[in-house]
Amino acid sequence: MSTPRHVLVLGDQLTEQVGPMARAEPGETRVLMIEARSIATALPHHKQKLALVFSAMRHFARSLVERGFEVAYLEAADFSDGISTYLSQHEGARIDVMAPTDWGVGDELVDAAQRAGGYVDIVENELWLTTDNEFDAWAEGRNSLRLEYFYRSMRAARGWLMVEGKPAGGKWNYDADNRQTPEKGHRFPGLQTFPPDDLTQEVLDDVCTRWPDHFGSAEHFVWPVTRGDALQALDDFLEHRLAEFGPYEDAMVDGEDVLYHSLLSVPLNLGLLHPREVCERALQQAADPASGVPLASIEGFIRQILGWREFIRHVYRTRMPELRVENGLEAERPLPDFYWSGQTQMRCVGQSVDQVVRTGHAHHIQRLMVLGNFALIAGIDPRELNDWFLATFVDALDWVVTPNVMGMSQFADLGSFTSKPYAASGKYVDRMSDYCAECVYDVKSVDGPNACPMNSLYWSFIDRHEDRWMSNHRMAMITRGWMKRDPEKKRVILERAADVHRRLASGEL
Ligand SMILES: Cc1cc2nc3c(=O)[nH]c(=O)nc-3n(C[C@H](O)[C@H](O)[C@H](O)COP(=O)(O)OP(=O)(O)OC[C@H]3O[C@@H](n4cnc5c(N)ncnc54)[C@H](O)[C@@H]3O)c2cc1C
Ligand code: SF4
Repeated sequence: MSTPRHVLVLGDQLTEQVGPMARAEPGETRVLMIEARSIATALPHHKQKLALVFSAMRHFARSLVERGFEVAYLEAADFSDGISTYLSQHEGARIDVMAPTDWGVGDELVDAAQRAGGYVDIVENELWLTTDNEFDAWAEGRNSLRLEYFYRSMRAARGWLMVEGKPAGGKWNYDADNRQTPEKGHRFPGLQTFPPDDLTQEVLDDVCTRWPDHFGSAEHFVWPVTRGDALQALDDFLEHRLAEFGPYEDAMVDGEDVLYHSLLSVPLNLGLLHPREVCERALQQAADPASGVPLASIEGFIRQILGWREFIRHVYRTRMPELRVENGLEAERPLPDFYWSGQTQMRCVGQSVDQVVRTGHAHHIQRLMVLGNFALIAGIDPRELNDWFLATFVDALDWVVTPNVMGMSQFADLGSFTSKPYAASGKYVDRMSDYCAECVYDVKSVDGPNACPMNSLYWSFIDRHEDRWMSNHRMAMITRGWMKRDPEKKRVILERAADVHRRLASGEL
């Protein structure tokens, strides 16, 4: 009998479509899966997130067993503990694992195996659309890394939405068409949901018993936990939401959780869907004239997956571990309690946190322009915010949270891959949402006790970093305008910002 292969399947690599498990045969391959308790206890993770990851892992293990694989599913203190337990039963074994995306995990596995007298061999992670070499070759010699140019290059290389070497429709970017807000009373399509089966319910109950004080509600769990669920979630998005994805991509609507977003970050980040199949299915759908998918929608969607998702993970790969601890704007204020409780009178923030408590999800503009923006302009410590995002979202993994929070949202890296901070006053929130209509604060006022806190905080953010913004070509004009303002008007606005900070500290905002 030939020596069996050993394959470690991590919780974000639940695939038989690519990688070692795509080539594995029952009888020849032994599978190891480690449910690491350290993941659950490092932060007070959302109960639905822990249930999602553990349930998806257990479903995956069960499906492998049903196909005849021998699976060692170990509940361990951490990865090292799991590896050493496994190697105590399989002396000297060589274990293949696809390169872990989260920083440090690969080294931890290799070291643990060495200590236990075995080997972990890191093999290529095939769950990505682009390779490390492809990104590194593109990045070489560039002064700055910008998504737009990476995305164009990757699209051209694949011929996606390309006509005779040129972008379809003559433009690379349809962002300007994609900033619409729906009319009042607009009816959004429903979302295909996946209520817990017996196994997921068992995991949910277990999580609630073990970690009752962790963040978030365990009610109304709707997430896909199997490959079959994930394919249905993809079909649901393509059929019901892709066509309108573009125009309303940046909109926020009070009481509407999903709008036309895909919610596919969940199955993508678990490995249940491959980004290539997601893009190819979307392109196929859009190519059918009967589908009614406009170019702005399919372009916007491909940009997110082939562009942002791939770009972000390469930024993470090349900028860790410094990225996690940077604080270039010297923002030191503590994260307000309302990020955990949702108890604030600011309607935009309160509603967004409430959604995260209920579902473990909020869409991109809520993350960037409400939850991130408030922290940025209020000078909250970005490392605390990073931990908050890591703990509270069901799709949160270090590789995707850290660059999005530290870089894109908080500018803590001083723009290593963005050209300006995503900072905005209440005016932006008012333009892109209907939150302000229901808010106790007045979005049109900058000073006075009733003024929208976002307004004065925005100007105090500009004021605090005046010198820095004057040397940023995308911030200089607005900063110059601020500098030229009447000193008395500036004083009153900054006084309101100081008052907002006092209220923030005393929990009255
Ligand atoms: C502060 C902040 C925190 C974030 N935290 C996470 C996180 O924990 N997990 C996560 O997957 N994404 C995160 N993102 C990126 C993005 O907001 C989410 O991927 C998206 O909201 C997920 O919802 P969706 O699947 O409906 O996305 P859609 O709007 O339907 O977009 C389609 C897909 O594009 C990809 N995508 C789009 N933008 C990004 C991006 N900036 N980075 C990486 N992938 C992107 C995602 O896979 C997403 O599923 C964060 C962004 C910000 C600004
Ligand atoms: S008025 Fe200000 S705080 Fe209130 S919802 Fe609008 S932007 Fe948010």
